[in-house]
Amino acid sequence: MRPAVLFPLFAAVETLPGIGPKNAKLVAKLAGPHVVDLLWHLPTGLVDRRARPTIADAEIGGIATLLVRVEGHVPAPTSHRAPHRVRCRDDSGSIDLVYFHASADWLAKILPVGAERAVSGRVDVFQGLRQMVHPDYVEPPAKLAELAVTEAVYPLTGGLAPRILQRAIGVAVDRTPELPEWLDPALQAQRGWPAWRSAIIAAHRPDSPPEAASEMPARVRLAYDELLANQLALTLVRASMRRLPGRSLAGNGALQARVETALPFRLTGSQRTALAEIAGDMAADVRMLRLLQGDVGSGKTVVALLAMLTAVEAGCQAALLAPTEILARQHLATIEPLVETAGLRLALLTGRDKGRRRNNVLQALEAGEIAIIVGTHALLSEDVAFRDLGLAVVDEQHRFGVHQRLSLSQKGRGVDILVMTATPIPRTLQLTAYGDMEVSRLTDKPPGRQPIDTRVLPLDRLEDVAAGVARRLAEGAKVFWVCPLVEDSEAVDLAAASDRYEQLRQRFGDTVGLVHGRLGGAEKDAVMAAFSEGSVNLLVATTVIEVGVNVPAATVMVIEHAERFGLAQLHQLRGRIGRGWAAGTCLLLYAPPLGEAAHARLATLRATDDGFKIAEEDLRLRGPGEMLGLRQSGLPAFRLADLAIHGDLLPVASDDARLVLARDPDLKGPRGEALRTLLYLFERDAAVKYLRSG
Ligand code: ADP
Ligand code: MG
Repeated sequence: MRPAVLFPLFAAVETLPGIGPKNAKLVAKLAGPHVVDLLWHLPTGLVDRRARPTIADAEIGGIATLLVRVEGHVPAPTSHRAPHRVRCRDDSGSIDLVYFHASADWLAKILPVGAERAVSGRVDVFQGLRQMVHPDYVEPPAKLAELAVTEAVYPLTGGLAPRILQRAIGVAVDRTPELPEWLDPALQAQRGWPAWRSAIIAAHRPDSPPEAASEMPARVRLAYDELLANQLALTLVRASMRRLPGRSLAGNGALQARVETALPFRLTGSQRTALAEIAGDMAADVRMLRLLQGDVGSGKTVVALLAMLTAVEAGCQAALLAPTEILARQHLATIEPLVETAGLRLALLTGRDKGRRRNNVLQALEAGEIAIIVGTHALLSEDVAFRDLGLAVVDEQHRFGVHQRLSLSQKGRGVDILVMTATPIPRTLQLTAYGDMEVSRLTDKPPGRQPIDTRVLPLDRLEDVAAGVARRLAEGAKVFWVCPLVEDSEAVDLAAASDRYEQLRQRFGDTVGLVHGRLGGAEKDAVMAAFSEGSVNLLVATTVIEVGVNVPAATVMVIEHAERFGLAQLHQLRGRIGRGWAAGTCLLLYAPPLGEAAHARLATLRATDDGFKIAEEDLRLRGPGEMLGLRQSGLPAFRLADLAIHGDLLPVASDDARLVLARDPDLKGPRGEALRTLLYLFERDAAVKYLRSG
């Protein structure tokens, strides 16, 4: 249960002044639905209104807070486009408050002649006269002291007034309770970090403009808190998995040998190394928790299959969990003939299986008649039971959460887990997503792979592109044509896949197919099958083909509006071609003008097809929180920590988490209690239940 001290922070933002239902929606979009989300919404700049000069002494170009008397109004002339001017003065001189397109009545009301007013804004000079264009504040004189402060500038979203947001955040900060200290006292002292509440206050109300804001102690502390919560949560989950007894699964190699001989290729060196590492883990009597990382096309599936055969040799069952229906079916198609060589029964279970069919599979699974099951989320449902599940392989796992991985492992005793990912994750990010999971990497691609010729072209060369595609089709190539969105999207300016499909059909006829996210499962399968086996040669697709789809004959890919995709995503897409023996061509079409970042992305893709280099470059270009591919992939996006700046704190947080849990595994001591609060504060509630006395 969330500690009571945090209740005010998890109240809805509507409880803040100025936030009605409409603003609440905007705030939720900008920061999040709870008061605490506004604490995490840190300022990007600062306006210093503390200067309170006389009019004559006000620095030109600077922000000043002035006490003035209103002398008279010069309304905007109707003849030409001049502003409304309000002449004001103090004992030192005069200044005009200048308003464009403002209502004279309203101005007469807020600035009545003869009245004193406190005003704050930028002072400049126009034709020798001091003026303040659209003062930020016009208040009664009593408010002068209140105005003359430093004021944080927050990132905004359309429709939300800056003042409203500022005020709401101000109140959120005021409501911030003192929390028990969870930091290691030695670390805190050594780094000179303030207490949590002071850090929140200092981050929102810094007294000097935050030049290198993210490096100020208060912000570094908050970043560390976030990283610590992340590492603590991962360590808890991992510790709970380790606590469950493991078992030793050793195969005799018979099934593996049979399947290996049936393979039309020889395993690469890194496939062999990975298999040896996996076999070592499985044979040990602790649970395996290993990540198999390999670029697209590096051959993870066969590694998974051989690992599953080890489990079967040891008398257990194995499961392969895929993120999508298409992928599950594809895995099935790939491994079915091989598994049959080994004389084993294989089955598929997806959300589409209902009624009798589903019951039959469930019964056979529970009876142990099925050796290997491939499926989607449907495998996780409660009524799926195994006779004896020994190994669970999770493909493209970043689409699954840690808890889904766990729920599969709970379907057996001491289930070993192998997680496969194609997203090349830079080491720093790996720690945040997986903690200290063991890693096997497929570093060498299968032999004979041809490099992909990648070209970047403006969209207005579409006719040339189509002509090129026509030539390749005539040579017998299969072509992917990727469009960013499906019909009815709000972004009508995007080339909708269905429009493009119609156009290409007019040119190329019936051999053009279309696949997108809104097709039903069976329709999708039919199109994919037609593409991979026969009648369809040109497949227009939205990014549903992004993950894993394997059509070795496909050698050409056209990607429209490539500038709208993230680097990692483009790399994944491109990985769909060049899996066979023929050289591939990838045409990246963009809508000019190309922004600087998009230009850098496309240039990187043209220059390299090394997934790790691309991921590092992505990290550099966008910053970790923004890595489009990764964000979509469910890697944690940090609110306060910026790994480009605070990355060196990550190993510190990781050690800290490990040490504290080694000393106080149930977080029962005083620091432990405080750390529980930290977990709740960062909404890692789920991790708390892995504490034995959660
Ligand atoms: P991914 O790592 O992207 O999942 P796959 O497992 O789908 O890659 O493999 C991509 C293609 O490479 C498949 O057609 C597979 O049969 C083939 N392949 C896998 N290992 C080898 C190998 N050692 N030699 C040649 N081809 C291989
Ligand atoms: Mg794969």
